[in-house]
Amino acid sequence: MKIFEIIKLACEKLSEVETPRLDAEILLAYVLNCRRLNLYTDTDRILTQEEITRYMKLIERRAEKIPVAYLIGIKEFFGLNFAVNENVLIPRPDTEILVQCAIEFLQTVDEKIFLDIGTGSGAICVSILKFLRTARAVATDISEKSLEVAKFNAQKFNVDDRAEFLCGDLFATADKKFAAIISNPPYIPTAEIKNLQAEVLSEPIKALDGGLDGLNFYRRIISSAEKFLLPRGFLAFEIGINQAAAVKNLLAENNFVEIEILRDLAGLERVICAKQKF
Ligand code: SAM
Ligand code: GLN
Repeated sequence: MKIFEIIKLACEKLSEVETPRLDAEILLAYVLNCRRLNLYTDTDRILTQEEITRYMKLIERRAEKIPVAYLIGIKEFFGLNFAVNENVLIPRPDTEILVQCAIEFLQTVDEKIFLDIGTGSGAICVSILKFLRTARAVATDISEKSLEVAKFNAQKFNVDDRAEFLCGDLFATADKKFAAIISNPPYIPTAEIKNLQAEVLSEPIKALDGGLDGLNFYRRIISSAEKFLLPRGFLAFEIGINQAAAVKNLLAENNFVEIEILRDLAGLERVICAKQKF
């Protein structure tokens, strides 16, 4: 079988996924260890039986709605190829807005030390550390297995000497004060979890479930943040649909000022940040 023939076959098997052609190509490039572009320059290349078998197994799993990122073990975020597996949330492009916002704040302070709560794959903290060479981070997660992935990524991108990983609830055993606290916490209301896309449901439930109204983590983090922030400390969160107003109130009630809400490319309120009052 030639490249163009097997892609056609794969697309038929992936008719139920959102982007059949793209997914078929990414998975084939992965099996052939080449770039997607080469699938177009080499359409007549004949695949070996072993390549066909490996590829069709991946296509079957993709048809079962396993996300492409889990199948290839990689997700690009902030221009970096992060390692991912089923123990971590797949980093989303929208979260890059949170990273950008944190970088802009940290560039204004001398002591660039920040806390990333619920680090997952480490996408947020590793991207910031890679971009800001003098920054240092503590990253926490309740899941030991996700911290293994985060540590792997910190090593992969050579920032592990500036990152400390702690397993535990929220602030875990952090005993420092930070210039900034950043988090993309679980924020989906519990009752809405069952309506999520099949792909999202293959991600860890602990990474998604934000409690009854989805706001549990914001309440808990905001009410304890003062203890962990340096004077004029900065707090930035990713937020879900229709959560901006409620999180803004929580921030205002807890002495935060200069509250800003940033929108994503779809025009949705996606990030909220604020500073501690003097
Ligand atoms: N920061 C990553 C990102 O943006 O791609 C992952 C975000 S994911 C939405 C939320 C993360 O919070 C998950 O890795 C989950 O394990 C972690 N988490 C859930 N409950 C937690 C808790 N009580 N304390 C600390 N981390 C928690
Ligand atoms: N952005 C994810 C989704 O909607 C949710 C991640 C989160 O709860 N922080 O699929």
